[in-house]
Amino acid sequence: MRVGIGRDIHKLAEGRRLVVGGVEMDSARGAVAHSAGDALIHAVIDAAIGAAGLGDIGDYFPDTDPRYEDADSRGLLRKTAALLAKHNLRVVQVDATVILEHPKVGQLKEAMRDNIAADLGLPGGAVNVKAKTAESSGEVGRGEAVAAEAIAVVEQV
Ligand code: MG
Repeated sequence: MRVGIGRDIHKLAEGRRLVVGGVEMDSARGAVAHSAGDALIHAVIDAAIGAAGLGDIGDYFPDTDPRYEDADSRGLLRKTAALLAKHNLRVVQVDATVILEHPKVGQLKEAMRDNIAADLGLPGGAVNVKAKTAESSGEVGRGEAVAAEAIAVVEQV
């Protein structure tokens, strides 16, 4: 069994879409990023790649590569599962936290969990998504950024 950790943060700005865990949220501000800027999925990808001992998200989906401009993060997560499969590895469990001041994640965390589980080919019970605010502290707390943290457990197939 191997364990990996991932974290991500994206600044928020007016006129951008806010997609978290593959769920488009109703928000006046969205993530500023080369890709779709889905901090939760990016954290999960880094946790999975880290558990596999294969580097980090930038090694496979560099933000300098025009192919990943506005890239659908769920597609990148599915590509990550395929990358691990090539190394005879698979993700068996994910726990993750979204840190976002507003809008409230609330029960959308269930749809986020279902998206991540589907892309990794896991039952919903193998993925957990938690939601927190930053208690008005720092750039996340001021509503200027969205952050996420994740842990993934990977096993040999
Ligand atoms: Mg990112």
